[in-house]
Formats: sequence, structure tokens, C-alpha cells
Amino acid sequence: EKLKLQSDITIIGGGPGGYVAAIQAAKLGAKVILIEKDKVGGTCLNYGCIPTKAIVRSSEVYRDLKNHNEYGLHADNISVDMKKVIERKSNIVDQLVNGIEYLLDKNNVKVIKGTGKILDANSVFVKSNKQEITVTTKNIIIATGSKTSMIPIKGIDLDNVITSKEALELNDLPDKLIIVGGGIIGMEFAFIYSSFGVDVSVVEFLENTLLACDKDVCDEINSIAKDSGIKLYTSSKVESIIKSEDGKCIVSFTENNTSKFITGDKVLMAVGRQPSYKNIGLENIDIKLDSKTRGIKVNNKMQTNIPNIYAIGDVTNIIQLAHVASHQGIVAVKNILGIETDMDYTVIPSAIFTNPEIAMVGVSERTAQEDGLDIEIGKFPFAANGKALTLGESNGFVKIIKEKPTGKIIGGSIIGPHATDLIAEITLAIKNGLTTKDVMETIHAHPTTAESIHEAVLATEGGALHFS
Ligand code: FAD
Repeated sequence: EKLKLQSDITIIGGGPGGYVAAIQAAKLGAKVILIEKDKVGGTCLNYGCIPTKAIVRSSEVYRDLKNHNEYGLHADNISVDMKKVIERKSNIVDQLVNGIEYLLDKNNVKVIKGTGKILDANSVFVKSNKQEITVTTKNIIIATGSKTSMIPIKGIDLDNVITSKEALELNDLPDKLIIVGGGIIGMEFAFIYSSFGVDVSVVEFLENTLLACDKDVCDEINSIAKDSGIKLYTSSKVESIIKSEDGKCIVSFTENNTSKFITGDKVLMAVGRQPSYKNIGLENIDIKLDSKTRGIKVNNKMQTNIPNIYAIGDVTNIIQLAHVASHQGIVAVKNILGIETDMDYTVIPSAIFTNPEIAMVGVSERTAQEDGLDIEIGKFPFAANGKALTLGESNGFVKIIKEKPTGKIIGGSIIGPHATDLIAEITLAIKNGLTTKDVMETIHAHPTTAESIHEAVLATEGGALHFS
């Protein structure tokens, strides 16, 4: 069956970029078609942010139960039922996917299940079940996301070599897991499996894991990782993976020019993600790629070199975060609908769900030094925070970066309990140009981990009250 449809905006890809853009556009009165080949919510909801955090939570509860003595409790014979952990994760994902489907429907967004291909700047073709649909559209937003990168080494296609997507369906815990890549995804999984009692090794090509973080944060998380039994091999280049006779994986690598190998039951590849734009018809419209990001090239309005075609989210490869994709989606939609808006990347928080959590926003200490900014650092350890002690989570600290000449807060990092929630306060402060004095004079509830932000700020204003 052949069908012809019309729309103001056609969005290809229903991840946090595409579905948020669709709802926003519909709310602003546009006629919207959203094309999704798999499930709405995209990588984030189905195979990324949400499922990983659901499993992180199970691993935290398990870890706390194992530490029952510390809390004055008895909880004997506890064990992990990975099938149930995965089931809980899937239920949460399903609930959220259904919620988004409902919202799209409620806002009159027409969702087409199928693979979208751009034919020309004003038409998109979708093959959906037995239908062949041609959409005539005034504007197109490309939101096709990203896919796991693979390194071209021997053994990458062995059945025991998995990606994060397959890890989220593992019903049995391996005894020994080797993770290739110590970035955010690799380290989140390292802490998850280690908490469940798996023997975890991480092999990282660069000189440290989580290199996006400042050095003090990096050092803290790496030392906690080692203390919790995670083996870290840094400056290590994986050369090959082979299967031994008893079905195990042998990962060979060179660590500072010395050849080494380790054996595991499974190998999780987490060496990054690359923008996904193959087979979506880019060749039909001559869309330009960005030589630096290797994603689709866009300006600050999220517009490609074709004026009525926009690109948002991981496919632009500017910053691979769900909330960035969503915000870019809103910026694209507003510009399409005549509300001029620029995408501003200066105040973007990022959240890492290791144990403890890490979050950062604004200028890092490293970039401040590289740019020669006149800064003052305020730091406060969670070991001196009452709430953190009651939680039994006293590792880590809050770090505030103050621009000396203006007194403004321009950056911050948090490693410790609730770091990923706490970062919102520093984000709001930076976005609104608040000074350390403004935050100093703001009363923070007691006892909360947020008091550590207050104290880190005080450290730049004559000294913290509860730490010297
Ligand atoms: P995606 O979410 O990838 O969505 C793209 C969608 O387009 C997909 O649903 C795909 O099926 C669809 N599609 C592709 N091609 C076509 C086509 N031709 N036709 C129709 N549909 C198509 N980010 C965070 O901010 N916080 C986190 O904690 C976090 N954790 C993560 C954990 C893991 C394991 C992974 C893998 C990622 C994580 N991310 C996290 C990153 C986050 O998932 C991405 O940044 C985000 O999903 C990007 O959104 P997007 O809309 O650009 O693309």
C-alpha cells in the first residue's frame, strides 16, 4: 500500500532529541511526523541512561545489604538474581516508553514505525510494515543518534564479546568480566558488576580512566575503584581477543610497551559511540559533515547546510548526552518556527553513575588553567558532612571554581553521594551569573549533602565553617 502524508516538521529518530523536539513542535502548533524504526525513547531510554541506572540501583541496594553490619542490621544469605534485576530494568523502561507514546499521541504527533530515508529537502520516504509512505514536509530534523564504536581487532566478533546493549540483557553474571574502555559507560558498568561481586578488569588506552574529569576527581574515583577490587590497566592498547578451549576470552594488550594478557568469561566493548547517519539518504541532499566532530555539521541554530534541514543529538556528535540532545531539539524547533534561539554549550552538567557518583558543570580546573583564568578553588570533603556520614557514604568532595575578578561561580565538580542531583544547584548558579557571596548568603537545609556546596563556597570566602 502506498500512502502520501504532509507535515510542517518531519523528525527522523525518536530518542531524547527527536521525541522532545516532536512534543515541543506540536505544543507550538506545528503539524509533526516522527519516524522511529525501533522504540521511542531511543538509546537513552531503551539501551542507555535509564536501563543502566535501574541496574545501578539494584547494585547499590545489594552493596548496602552486603554492608548490613555497618547499619546495625542482619541480612544473611543475600544473593543476586540477575534475571529479576533485568526484569525490573525492563519494566521501568516499558513504563517510560509507554509514557512517551502516550504523550506523543496526546500532543497529536503522528508516529510512524519504520526506517526513514530522505529523498530530497522536502520529502522523506518510510517503509513501514506493508506500507510505503512518502511524507512531503516543509522541514526535516535528523535525530538518528549514535551506535557503539568497535575497534578493528581480531576477535571482536566472538560471541562472548558484547556491547552495552547486550550487557543490559545478561541474565547470568559472568565470574570474570573484562571491559575495554574506561570512559563513562565502561566505568559505570565496572562499578555495577563489581558491586554484584564480579571480578572486573578495565583496559583503557589513555593514561587514566574518566579523563573528562579533573585530576583530583579522577584520582579519587580510581582509588575507590581499586579499593573495591576493580583492576585498572591504563595506557594499555588491546591487540586481540581469542577464545580459549574452555570457552573463555583471552584479551591481549600492551601496557606501556609490555605485552600482557588477561582471561575473562565476557568482554564488554565500551570504546565510545559514533554518529549514526548511514542509509538515511544524506547523499540525496549533499549534507555536509563536520571534520572535527565527524557528525552532521550544524550551526548554533542546529541548522545543517541545507536551510530547512536541522540535525540534533548524538548524530551531530557535539556532546553525547541525552539532555543536550533534548535541548538541541527545542532550539531546532524554535528556529524552524521563527523563534530565534542559539544553542549555548557553556553550562552543561554531566552526570556519571559510578559509585560514588560524579557530576560536573561549567569550566573545569584543567581548562581554567589552560585558558589562564584567574580562579580560586573551594573544596569541601563529604567526610565532614553529617548527612553523608549518616548515609554511610563519606567518600569524595565538592569543588567550586570561582572567577576571582568577578566573584562569579564558573565551574564545579562533585564526587560523592547524590552528586548527580546536587550538580543542579551549581548549574543554576553558573547559568545565572551568581557569585560565591550569593550562594554563601543562601540558607541550605540541614542535614543535607547540599550543605557541602555551601561549605565549598565558604572555602573561597574566608574558609569553610566545618572544615579547616
Ligand atoms: P538516540 O537516543 O540514539 O536516538 C536515535 C533514534 O533514532 C533511535 O531510537 C533509532 O532507532 C532511531 N533511528 C536511527 N535511524 C533511523 C532511521 N533511519 N529511521 C527511523 N529511526 C531511526 N546520556 C546521559 O545524558 N546520561 C546518561 O546517564 C547516559 N547513559 C548512557 C548509558 C549508555 C550505556 C549509553 C549507550 C548511552 C548513555 N547516554 C547517557 C547517552 C545518551 O543515551 C545519548 O546521548 C542520547 O540517547 C542521544 O539522543 P539522540 O536522540 O541523539 O539519539
